[in-house]
Amino acid sequence: MIDKMFKNSNLKITKQRKEIIDIILELKNSATISNIIKKASMNKSTVYRIIDILVKNNILVKQINYDNNDYYVINEYHKHYIKCIKCNKIKELDNCPFDSINISGFEVINHSLKIEGICEECKES
Ligand SMILES: [Zn+2]
Ligand SMILES: [Zn+2]
Repeated sequence: MIDKMFKNSNLKITKQRKEIIDIILELKNSATISNIIKKASMNKSTVYRIIDILVKNNILVKQINYDNNDYYVINEYHKHYIKCIKCNKIKELDNCPFDSINISGFEVINHSLKIEGICEECKES
């Protein structure tokens, strides 16, 4: 899986790049930059540099959390969520709205969405 992602992006898999991917897979939604740095065996600036490369090559995307902490996910696995402003319930979206959006003149390499709404139960009450 990881091999395929790197191949698609024409990026060489290095030990350090693979380590960052593994850490992000392990941390899931808490893969913020500070948590990644805590786990990584390399120094802070190397972590920043590698993440920058992985984002530019479409392997990682930055997502905005509801507590405003940016975290990183594997592009292929990224998800979006909608949050109910009344009861704070969070629902996962089935697909990425950006899959069907074309912005002419640009290649989209990163996006984030913060969607809020009112859930069915709260609408009724
Ligand atoms: Zn609700
Ligand atoms: Zn998306």
